[in-house]
Amino acid sequence: MQTIDFRSDTVTQPTPGMRKAMMKASVGDDVYGEDPSVNRLEAVMAERLQKEAALWVASGTQSNLLALFAHCERGDEYIAGQLSHIYRYEGGGGAVLASIQPQAIDNQEDGTLDLNQVASVIKDRADSHFAKTRLLCLENTNLGRVLPLDYLHQAQRLASQNELAMHLDGARLFNASVSQGVEAAQIANFFDSISVCLSKGLGAPVGSMLVGSKALIEKARRWRKVVGGGMRQAGFLAQAGLYALEHHVERLRLDHAHANYLATRIKALDEVELQYGESHTNMLFMRLKHRSHDALQAFLSEKNIQIRSGPWIRLVLHLDISRDNVDYFLTQLERFVLN
Ligand SMILES: *Cc1c(COP(=O)(O)O)cnc(C)c1O
Repeated sequence: MQTIDFRSDTVTQPTPGMRKAMMKASVGDDVYGEDPSVNRLEAVMAERLQKEAALWVASGTQSNLLALFAHCERGDEYIAGQLSHIYRYEGGGGAVLASIQPQAIDNQEDGTLDLNQVASVIKDRADSHFAKTRLLCLENTNLGRVLPLDYLHQAQRLASQNELAMHLDGARLFNASVSQGVEAAQIANFFDSISVCLSKGLGAPVGSMLVGSKALIEKARRWRKVVGGGMRQAGFLAQAGLYALEHHVERLRLDHAHANYLATRIKALDEVELQYGESHTNMLFMRLKHRSHDALQAFLSEKNIQIRSGPWIRLVLHLDISRDNVDYFLTQLERFVLN
């Protein structure tokens, strides 16, 4: 029996259709700009988000790093949430490699940043005591939660009043777009740059994209080379991204439906507590009130189910988890907590 892996939506296997598409990809040297599949993917993504240009990169971390490099200079500053990936989970890359200072502020309960607090940390650029605040970074979805469009609108107004650029870590942008029933371009419209992961719910084996103006993407392309991210016949991987955009966006609805179903069933269990209420796309966070998470992890592991233990257990739905798999998980979870 195949392992049912709830740890992340990065764990998916390329589908048979995707593998076939990859093997048939036309390729060339992408550092020379000659890989037709990479060029096509970049054009398709730019068009989809209605921006001028896009850049295919190795990972979401690299994409966010290149966004920092492209928006900011040494001694500049970006504002981001304490819980944001770009600040917390990328090894401090902006500071380490680009000499850009982060100004982190608390995320609110719904994943947004309090805009009054954002305003209060923007520094006077004329005063040499301060790093120059240049960029506001938001994340959507953030821990599975979707940022409301009118919040994005307010954030954009604040940013433009203060001459800040806006970057979206949209690793799961398409989860947000499907969940809100709006085009991804409508969300992207609020931002100067957007990073999108192809290797999360979209199911490609590798790759992310940075999307924005031509000028910004040219800067990012140069920095991609500098950090060793220029790849040659990358079209095999780009073709997987193209396949994912064509076949795996609409189906994200299924993952959301599975997450909702899972939440409803889990709520019926007294021993289990859910974090973040109703607001979830393809992920849930749960906690056992009395039993040990490590014991649950070990119990499930014997049943071919993988979860990651921690103060909260994150359950992520993706294309390798079917409704039957969810039911099987629930059966095992109930067995564990009820005896
Ligand atoms: C996964 C993820 C990234 C990028 O991760 P990589 O593993 O570097 O591709 C960035 N931001 C968020 C919110 C993510 O979930």
